[in-house]
Order: sequence, then structure tokens, then C-alpha cells
Amino acid sequence: LQADGASTVDRETTSAQDSAVLHRHLGASFLSLEKGQSSYLVLEDGRMIFDASGGAAVGCIGWGNRRVAEAVTRQILDVPYCPTIFYTTKAQEDLCQLLVDSTNGHMARAYIVNSGSEAMEAAIKLARQYYLELEQPQPQRVRFISRRQSYHGITLGALAVGGHVTRRAKFEPIMMKNVSQVSPCFEYRGKTNGEPDEAYVERLAKELDDEFQRVGPDTVCAFVAEPVVGAALGCVPSVPGYFKAVRTVCEKYGALLILDEVMCGMGRTGTLHAWEQEGIAPDIQTIGKGLGGGYQPVAGVLVGHRVINTFEKGTGVFVHGHTYQGHPAGCAAALEVQRIIQEEGLLKNVQELAPLLSKSLVDEVGSHPNVGNVRGRGFFWGIEFVANKETSEPFPAEDHVAMDICEFALAKNYGVGVYPGGGSVDGVRGDHIIISPPYNVSGDDIKWIVATVKRVVEDFFAAKSK
Ligand code: PLP
Repeated sequence: LQADGASTVDRETTSAQDSAVLHRHLGASFLSLEKGQSSYLVLEDGRMIFDASGGAAVGCIGWGNRRVAEAVTRQILDVPYCPTIFYTTKAQEDLCQLLVDSTNGHMARAYIVNSGSEAMEAAIKLARQYYLELEQPQPQRVRFISRRQSYHGITLGALAVGGHVTRRAKFEPIMMKNVSQVSPCFEYRGKTNGEPDEAYVERLAKELDDEFQRVGPDTVCAFVAEPVVGAALGCVPSVPGYFKAVRTVCEKYGALLILDEVMCGMGRTGTLHAWEQEGIAPDIQTIGKGLGGGYQPVAGVLVGHRVINTFEKGTGVFVHGHTYQGHPAGCAAALEVQRIIQEEGLLKNVQELAPLLSKSLVDEVGSHPNVGNVRGRGFFWGIEFVANKETSEPFPAEDHVAMDICEFALAKNYGVGVYPGGGSVDGVRGDHIIISPPYNVSGDDIKWIVATVKRVVEDFFAAKSK
């Protein structure tokens, strides 16, 4: 099968054709999971896979945690569903309070939904409605500026602000047109040779400023960005000073800053919120994957004082809502996961072991002739593969290199699970895999992950070149 994202690696797995499930990646593995146990996924046939990416950077406390399972069970037995139009639950109240308290006073409210895409839809609509709630409403603010190599979700609004070319392609004609995009901060492919960080930041800030000018500064609701770019680029942090500079541009034109931390947030980069490392705070922030650590579908939006104060002086009502928003089981799972992260000092573990992960990945995997770049932060690392290390020339899209490496690791029983990414962006394909282990792994686990990934990469390219 050769559909988008399909693999060409030979393997023996259940064919997607044998299943009633509408599967997204035709041709990709279709392995049946029996159990999740600590850092391992156990397959039906008994094979154990060390889940070195926590799915798509979702798993943060590992799998099979009884505390979370019991908290969710208790919640479902007590109050399984909450019609949030009239009611609330202690789980929702406590989770929102915990999240607001985690922001050092920067955020004022939290809104709980079920997926990162839903969170982004809510963020987009909150930004739009904010300008209508002002004492002097600004209804002409209808535009969003985002960044080319970005991914903000799969629903139409979120897809429109994202820059994932392959995921957008078929739906361009039905997506909102009020979005334009600027370059991301991408040192490996965006910075010119020898360009100092300050000059690069200045250049990108000017590009953003020019874009505000081009579209009309008073027509822009918000600038949208991921503090560390996840699925679209593979764990790309910005250079120092970038977020301060773009924050300044937003303020100059009165636009909001929306930071999408669905993938890089909730501790993944070593601080609970990735923006804490940038010296700025957003007006609106989305969170997802690591919030519930995969135990329930749960995501959220954190909303800053500027937006909340305006809403409160205005109608006070966000015109939005989902049947399952603030779902009690999701809130209970997220609360327990976050309490475990706090009580077990897991962010400290991420901070302490991140240098080992980064150094060993750079030294041991980065030296391979087909590894162009290794980058990341905390427990969120991307390895980008290239056809030519000197020129950074990517592999042709039809090679499906990232997907094939992940498939190769599974099919040839290396016992490690990593996550693929890529997609044609600005005509440059960036094949990468993501290494994003749970926050409670040990130093020995990290050494094993790096050594195993190194073997996978070496063996894969040796086989490919035959
Ligand atoms: N935003 C970012 C940065 C993401 O990485 C993702 C998912 O990968 C989303 C939004 C969408 O989240 P979901 O897949 O939960 O809808």
C-alpha cells in the first residue's frame, strides 16, 4: 500500500484491511496492544516495546498506573458525566485551580476539553470574541498569523492556522482564508551561516512585523506559535530572545499571543510550561497530551488576565461549548497525573536527565552520516534525517524515511517504539523521529534508548543503501 504516510518496510502485522477500524495511516503497522506496563507496550504476541516516545509525546508517567486508574474509576462511579451548562464537579474545579496556580499568576482561568484540536479551536474563537467584548469593540480583527512549519490540530480551524502542508492539502478549498504565515524559528534550516542569534531573531521579528503591516495591523486577532515545534518539525526550540521579540511585535499591534503547548507542554521540556523558559507568558495557551498522560482524552485552554478581564466587563460568556467539555473522567485522570508528577518530583528527573539524553543523542546518533540534526529540550528530542549531511539535502518524500525507520524498529524487533514525523514544508521535507520518554525513566533507560535507536538508525540505512 502506498498511501500518504505509508511504509515500504516488509513486516508481518495484521492488515488494516482485516479490520473495521478506519485507520489513518494505510500501510502502517496495525499491531494489537495487550497491555501498557510502566514504560512498555506489550503486544498480543507477548513482545514488549519500550515506548521511547510515549506515543506522540503523550505518556508522561508511563502506563498501567493504578492511582490514575482508581481515580478515574472512583470518578465514574461518583459522577460519570457533568452537563456543564448547569453543573460543575470537584474534579473540574480542582484541575482548573491546579492549572491556574501552576502559571505563577499569569493565567486566570482554565477551560477543559477533550483534544488538542478542540483546545486550539477554542483558543481561536476566544481570541476573536475578545475583540468583540472590548468596551470599544474591534470587529475588523478577523485574521491570524502563524508559522509555516507548525501543526496545531486536525479540525478545520486548527488545520488552517497550522502549516502542515500534507495534512492541509486536500482540504485547502474548505479552510478559513484569514490566516497567513511567517517563517518559524528553525536554526538548522532557517539561520544563515554564521548568523548570530540576535541578528536571526531581529530578522524573524521584522518578518512578523512586515506581515502585520501587509495584512493591516488592526485586522489581526493573534499570532499563534508552538514554543517548541512538535509534529511539524520534530522538537525544534527557538533561539534565545525569539519569543520576547515576537511578543513585543504582538504588543505593538495590540494582537494576542496564543502559544500551543499541546505537545511541548505540561513538563515535557523540563518546566511545566515551555514558555517559562522564554521569559514571557502568552495571553492564551493550549495544553493536551501530557495533561492526562494518555489515561483519558483531555486537553485544555489557559486564559490570561487581559482576556478574562475583558470578558468579565463584557458579556462574560464565551460563545462555545462541547457536550463532553470538562468531562469528569478526563479531569480526574489529569488531576491524578499532575499530582503524581508533583509528588514524585518528575520534573526534577526530567531536568536532571535531560543533559544525558541530549548529549548521548547528539554524540552517538548525531554522528551518523544520514543524521542532519539533533535538537530538542528536556525530554523532547527530534532526530532529522538527510540524504546528504554536508548540504542538508532531505530524502525524497516518496522514500517515507521517518515512517520506515519506526516501522523497521518494530518489524525487526529492536524492542523500541519511536514516533515519525515529517511532511513537505516549504518544499523541504524534514524527516524526523521523536524521542520523548515518560518523565520517570532512569539514566539506564535513557542509555538503552539511545544505544538502541543508534543501532536502528545504523542498520536501517545500511539496509537501505543495499
Ligand atoms: N497542537 C499541537 C502542537 C499538536 O502537536 C497536536 C497534535 O499532535 C495538536 C495541536 C492537536 O491535538 P489532538 O491530536 O489531540 O487533536
